[in-house]
Amino acid sequence: MSEDFYKTLGVARNASADEIKKAYRKLAMQYHPDRNPDNKEAEEKFKEINAAYEVLSDEKKRRQYDQMGHKMYTQSGRGGGMSPEDIFASVFGSDGGDFFSSFFGGGSSRRNRNAPSRGQDLLYEMEIAFEEAVFGAEKKVTIPRSETCARCNGSGAEPGSTRKTCPHCGGQGEVAMQQGFFSIRQTCSHCRGSGSILEKPCQDCYGNGVLRKSKSLPITIPPGVDNGTRLRVSGEGDAGQRGGPSGDLYVTLRVRPHEIFERNNLDISVDVPLPFNIATLGGHIDVPTITGKENLKVPAGIQNGTRLRLKGKGIPSLSGKGRGDQYVRITIEVPTGLNADQKQKLKAFADACDENNNPKTKAFQKKASKFYI
Ligand SMILES: [Zn+2]
Ligand SMILES: [Zn+2]
Repeated sequence: MSEDFYKTLGVARNASADEIKKAYRKLAMQYHPDRNPDNKEAEEKFKEINAAYEVLSDEKKRRQYDQMGHKMYTQSGRGGGMSPEDIFASVFGSDGGDFFSSFFGGGSSRRNRNAPSRGQDLLYEMEIAFEEAVFGAEKKVTIPRSETCARCNGSGAEPGSTRKTCPHCGGQGEVAMQQGFFSIRQTCSHCRGSGSILEKPCQDCYGNGVLRKSKSLPITIPPGVDNGTRLRVSGEGDAGQRGGPSGDLYVTLRVRPHEIFERNNLDISVDVPLPFNIATLGGHIDVPTITGKENLKVPAGIQNGTRLRLKGKGIPSLSGKGRGDQYVRITIEVPTGLNADQKQKLKAFADACDENNNPKTKAFQKKASKFYI
């Protein structure tokens, strides 16, 4: 986000209302999403430009902004009451014509600006431990979001006051302007096209009907979630305006890697070192699983890299039906640091071996012999 609304619009702090409008028009056309399809950066920039213009184009808001400074002003929840669509339309007239309606999926030419609008969806990213993803967890998130103003109950009007017909357009929501031969109808900038204005704006929300607040919410992580799983918390997004429904909160999960377990969908794999004598003679070893220790039977003659399966010891599926498996991958450890006695015994063992004890070596050497010139 921008750190200064003046910088966003590229104007001086003492810029006139006209200069601000001119700068806005130029930037808004340049970064309009219609001209920059699928360009996230342009979309963000477009939003910033509109947020800056909303404040700087309003004498009262601009004064407050200058007094409070950018950080205080934006954190206090002032401004931000209008959608980029409304701001754009208020400057470019009507709904911005075809140029505009195609972007906002319009179709219908004139929107009712008094109509309830749904609150924004909010996105939140949460990091959780490997075990929490497997078994589920109860977590808490603190999110900044807009909530319906309690003082005015979301109407934006100071209690006891009401809305009155806009004196500027006589309640029409638009005004006619003569330009050469043409009469152009433009959205009324006074009431932003709604046809009515607040008699007295609410003291708490400055007429926005919503306030920015920090809210702590419990989040239930179901067992079996994975990295990138997105949870939807219905109705916990930004509050709607003019009685519209709230948006939703989306929580995207990031699972921290585990020290020894590796996950692949519902299966878990773990690399287990195995002394070469057990690999040769067979035996039992302890292996870790997500539900505790398991004793695993190792067959005699197991080779390096062999995967042994522990059925049903993987991750429970998110649907609650079934569970994955755990794979134990054997890494045979060659003994090191042998003393004289051990070396001597191993030599005696080697002397007692014949080539059939190492069939792979035998087969390879047979094949390779024709390349030994
Ligand atoms: Zn209020
Ligand atoms: Zn008006």
